[in-house]
Amino acid sequence: MSRSAALYRSWQTAVVFLTAAAVVWAFSTHSASFAGQALFFAFIVMAASFFRIEAADASVGFEAPVVFGAIIIFHSAAAGMIAAALGTWFYAVYSGAKNRSFQLEPFAAGAQLALAYSMVALLYTRAVAFGAPVISKVSGYVLLLVGYLVFQLLFVSLKRWFEGDSGPLDFRRVVMAQGRTLILGSPLVGIEVLLFEQWGIAGFALGTIPLFLIAFAVRGENRSQQQNADLVRQNRELSILTESSTQILSAEGDQETLRRLMTLLTRLAKLQACAVVTWETNPDIPGTVYRFGDCLPTDQDILKWVDSAGFSQSAPSRAFVFHADMRRFPLSSAHAIQVLIGIQTQEVIYGILIFETEDLSILKTGSLNLLTLLVNQTALSLQDQLLRREMREKTELLEKQASTMSMINKLSNELIGSFEIDEALTRIAEAIRSSLGFEVVVFALYDEKRDEYVRRAHVGLDEVWEEVKTRKVSAKAVEAFFNPEFRLLNSYFVPHTSLRPSDHDFVVVPEETGILMPDEWHENDMLMVPLAANEKQIGYLSVRSPHDGKVPSTDQVQTLEVFANLAVNSVQSAHQYGQIKRLTTLDVLTAAFNHRYFQDMLGKEIHRHARNGHEFALAMIDIDNFKRINDSFGHPVGDDILKGLVEELMTNARDSDIVSRYGGEEFAIIFPEATSVAAREAVNRLRELVEKREFPQPAINRTLRITISVGVAVFPRDGVNSADLIARADAALYWAKKHGKNQVAMASEVLADGQMAL
Ligand code: GH3
Ligand code: MG
Ligand code: MG
Repeated sequence: MSRSAALYRSWQTAVVFLTAAAVVWAFSTHSASFAGQALFFAFIVMAASFFRIEAADASVGFEAPVVFGAIIIFHSAAAGMIAAALGTWFYAVYSGAKNRSFQLEPFAAGAQLALAYSMVALLYTRAVAFGAPVISKVSGYVLLLVGYLVFQLLFVSLKRWFEGDSGPLDFRRVVMAQGRTLILGSPLVGIEVLLFEQWGIAGFALGTIPLFLIAFAVRGENRSQQQNADLVRQNRELSILTESSTQILSAEGDQETLRRLMTLLTRLAKLQACAVVTWETNPDIPGTVYRFGDCLPTDQDILKWVDSAGFSQSAPSRAFVFHADMRRFPLSSAHAIQVLIGIQTQEVIYGILIFETEDLSILKTGSLNLLTLLVNQTALSLQDQLLRREMREKTELLEKQASTMSMINKLSNELIGSFEIDEALTRIAEAIRSSLGFEVVVFALYDEKRDEYVRRAHVGLDEVWEEVKTRKVSAKAVEAFFNPEFRLLNSYFVPHTSLRPSDHDFVVVPEETGILMPDEWHENDMLMVPLAANEKQIGYLSVRSPHDGKVPSTDQVQTLEVFANLAVNSVQSAHQYGQIKRLTTLDVLTAAFNHRYFQDMLGKEIHRHARNGHEFALAMIDIDNFKRINDSFGHPVGDDILKGLVEELMTNARDSDIVSRYGGEEFAIIFPEATSVAAREAVNRLRELVEKREFPQPAINRTLRITISVGVAVFPRDGVNSADLIARADAALYWAKKHGKNQVAMASEVLADGQMAL
């Protein structure tokens, strides 16, 4: 409530009390017979009040001829005051009881009137002596009339000032409205006074009969004017009604719909302020506030009130009206009525309309019905738009799903020929990003030997990938995420609130960032899909940073799982392919790599070391005097010795060294990342181990021993292509044979023709 409204109330209260006190004082200082007569006048004033006419800026009553009569007859200000105050108050009590609502307003108005009458009566009694001749009484009466009008104007101005109405006051209308009653009533005052002098109270009562006849006629005329105005109004309402359906139903978008509702409302009544709150079907999402006119409370306050009133659960289906002082949540400072109505269909409550107006004509049943109709139409329009929106979203979703499916199809066809696991996973990750909109996608595979997960492919981690790739994830950490409480279909959604500090590897920002909506994705939320083949966990797929910022729907998770399956298939077929490929790379007799594989690997290692600029060594091994073994004990013994030799070499070489059968009883070993010195040492150690190894031959009941000769060439010093490296190693081997066997020769130390270098 504004300051001036509060002031006005204080003023009204003060006037009522002042008048009541004056009335009590008047009764106590006058005789009982005076009091009885004054009460009689008050009753006549009350009767006259029934004919009160509410006109612009003034309320015109027929009490004036009665009160003026009382003043002249009693020659007393108190008589006028008692008649006016009690008469109007009696009427206020009567109409309050009838409407079951007592307002301060009519009591204050009555008190003001009584005040005005007693003031002019004071003037009159001072100007005209008691028992003065008629002519002076008449001029005194003119004084009464003028004073009365002045007070009326004063009160009207006062009210307008308190209510902050800055528009110009229509003096002429006020004076005309009051003047008409006074002109009609003045001869009656004369009749009243004369009849009173003749017959006392009864005479006076008789004198008021014409007054009531006139009042009745004037009121009838006024009523027909009013009816005319009503007809005009109904006409206007009808035109609003015909326009409303096209206006509201053709609006595009909620805001436009509500704006049009507003425009129609302003034609129905002058709006002081208006707010519309609409809410989503999801009760956790706060509503939207649309405001019009002078709406004082903030959006937050409006939402809070609407929420506390529980309108989203149950809103008034017909207009609820609150009078100015009864508003629970005033929108404006004006002394306006508030109307509340839910914007709803039978099934759904879309929002609530709250508006305030000073135009009481909206309270007519017809207007309220029209209002309800407008609001119903608005609700229908909102429903229609919601349905259309939902349909559009569904269509979009279906289209998206179809395109995702065709992408999966295409991808799975393409992946059939691809046996590079990391490459295949990267492509799937890219497809996930483009179809499901996750900025970060990571594939990790399980390493059974180490019981940990190794991240193998990604999108969206470009800057940190080299580092992330080397950080392994323990199987235990991953198992903790695959907890039934996080389960979503076959995947696991781990909310950020469930992450522990020990999960630091998965935590992006440790601090909380603001309050999240229920379906909003937090930076530290995790969505993981296990990659499982034949009930065995072979890895996981993890996604982050959804482009729409929302926790994925089940549909999305389902699609993600299809991608995960694709990844499992790729990994599995790559594994199978690897196994088959391995079989074709091995030498059947010794299980060392075969010649073709050796050639492939030599080419690759040359390439790799050329890139990283490191050295590597190639050793060519030949068994010394092997022919003799074959010749003495037969080929099967020779074969067994070849197997034994490979076993010795493989168990003692490093995992990364590539031991292969070059041909016959000749072997080649590639030592990646080995310098000349390191290679010489490694080869010599192997040669010694072979020399010491016993080859038991139960078939011939003997234990044999062999020695080997080795030639070593080092990349890039001794050669930068396969042929050169092999030739240089061979040359060194040849040199070793020639100079006593069972020894290692470095290519750099022998000449190409087998001579020792200088
Ligand atoms: P050297 O010390 O000069 O190498 O004498 P050597 O007898 O080992 O001579 P060479 O390296 O030329 O020997 C090749 C012999 O290796 C010929 C063949 O009898 C034997 N050999 C080659 N491949 C196989 C095989 O697969 N099994 C068996 N048992 N013997 C093989
Ligand atoms: Mg040989
Ligand atoms: Mg040999």
